[in-house]
Amino acid sequence: MKIKKVAIVGGGTAGWLAANHLGLELSAREGFSVTVVESKDVPTIGVGEGTVAVIRKSLEKLGVSEAELLLRCDATFKMGIKFVNWMAPKKDNFYYHPFDAPYPLGVDATDYWLSNKPTGSFYEFSELAKTYLAAEGNLCPKLRNSPPYQGVVNYAYHFDAKKFSELLADNAKRRFDVLYKQKTVLSANLDDNGFIESLNYDDGETEGFDFFVDCSGFSALLMEKALGVGLVDKSDQIAPDQALVLQVATSSDDEIAPYTTATAHTAGWIWDIPLTTRRGTGFVYSSAHMTEQQAMAEFELYHGANFCQSKVRKIPLKTGYREKFWLKNCTSLGLAQGFVEPLESTSIVITDYCASLIAKLLPDHRDHLEARAQQVNRRVEYIWERVIDFVQLHYLISDRQDSAFWRDCTAPTKMSDLLRERLLLWKNFIPTHYDFSADIEFFQRESFLAILYGMNYPTKALENNAEYDEFVKVKVAEHFQAMTSLAESLTPQRQWINEFYAYAANVNKV
Ligand SMILES: Cc1cc2nc3c(=O)[nH]c(=O)nc-3n(C[C@H](O)[C@H](O)[C@H](O)COP(=O)(O)OP(=O)(O)OC[C@H]3O[C@@H](n4cnc5c(N)ncnc54)[C@H](O)[C@@H]3O)c2cc1C
Repeated sequence: MKIKKVAIVGGGTAGWLAANHLGLELSAREGFSVTVVESKDVPTIGVGEGTVAVIRKSLEKLGVSEAELLLRCDATFKMGIKFVNWMAPKKDNFYYHPFDAPYPLGVDATDYWLSNKPTGSFYEFSELAKTYLAAEGNLCPKLRNSPPYQGVVNYAYHFDAKKFSELLADNAKRRFDVLYKQKTVLSANLDDNGFIESLNYDDGETEGFDFFVDCSGFSALLMEKALGVGLVDKSDQIAPDQALVLQVATSSDDEIAPYTTATAHTAGWIWDIPLTTRRGTGFVYSSAHMTEQQAMAEFELYHGANFCQSKVRKIPLKTGYREKFWLKNCTSLGLAQGFVEPLESTSIVITDYCASLIAKLLPDHRDHLEARAQQVNRRVEYIWERVIDFVQLHYLISDRQDSAFWRDCTAPTKMSDLLRERLLLWKNFIPTHYDFSADIEFFQRESFLAILYGMNYPTKALENNAEYDEFVKVKVAEHFQAMTSLAESLTPQRQWINEFYAYAANVNKV
């Protein structure tokens, strides 16, 4: 049986990313069609506003205009994540996970940094990346004349989740003729072989499709409810299981930080994501270590006068991923596929990658589904395991011991074998590219260096000869000079965005 008619259940970020990728890759196939089915009664999750830098490539490939993204989605630029108070020694300590690599003028200075760091007051590891000064100055990673999707510092975006999925929906309909139906799916009908045959809608209609993509959010309507595929529970590795979410309005004069701030507290952390018109904030905590009342009080303390308890949304979080991501003629994406708390903004990037994977690998005949499913399931499971490792690393190597939460998270019993092995290895050796599986691990050497040495992981330094040390020292000094000049050439992010809006308004007038 040919696979021609595809249903995507769910019209959130996951559903519309899937629609775009399937449209891009497969709309040329004879008789191929994609339909997004969305319930008007089930709202989207409405969070998911921080991304990572590869999203630029993907949006460009899908034909989304960067200008439209900026203008329609209240989007801002993000150069990385600023982790505040993740270490014990002094209050307001911080480090960055920058999107740019920590290689000053292309030189790997990690070993030099490790050897010299203990000798007294020394710069932070993330200062070795281009990002640091620009981020600290609230600057924009693009020049006024930078082409779309290009900047002088690497970047991703913060955006309004709802507006982003609307932009993706328009793109999918306009460019790839994706069809849209506003109907609530009540259930799915299976054939004798366990394949999904059709969907039952709330208006009494039943519609048949050849292939199904479950993007129905946490309800996982097809994968879990129809096909019975459960979650691999990973809550023993990542303790936070609740989020309080609050949006706070900002004015068009307020500075816009070009990074997500992740501020640790006694039982979790707070995200702070600046958009053009508001900040999206969230208090992520572990209910085993803090009551909701305590969390609310702490969240209020963070916001001060801006806090409005009646506007706080509560979202329970469950860390885990589907036992199978693809079964028979159904796959799952987004929250229906799995969840890990948003410390490293990993959900949209996994969704985007998997949507592209399905679109590239979807066979045109049902007989070939099983072989593809097996191959893809192995790959996706590995991706999830490594992302969970990376998120856990932030808790695991902290030296905070000031609460039961931090004592539990730093106890080294709950982690994957590979992470345990790597942490042992990295006591004696700086991570190398050979420690990672290229392209299947979203976080590579550069990201691990940022977290490990942002948090002072005790890797033994090599004994370099004096000549080499001197060479790196000169390079680092040149890097600092170059970064000062770079920062001087950049515009504050708020100014850049206001000027861009004014320019766009003028162009539209003409
Ligand atoms: C607290 C929190 C913070 C997050 N922060 C980030 C972040 O910073 N970065 C990041 O990358 N990700 C983040 N995420 C994840 C991100 O929100 C999701 O990846 C993204 O929003 C995609 O969600 P989704 O489309 O899978 O689900 P949803 O947005 O929930 O969409 C589900 C869709 O399914 C439809 N639907 C449901 N049931 C039915 C039915 N019966 N019939 C028809 N349609 C149905 C709904 O109408 C809706 O359109 C966060 C998640 C949470 C919970």
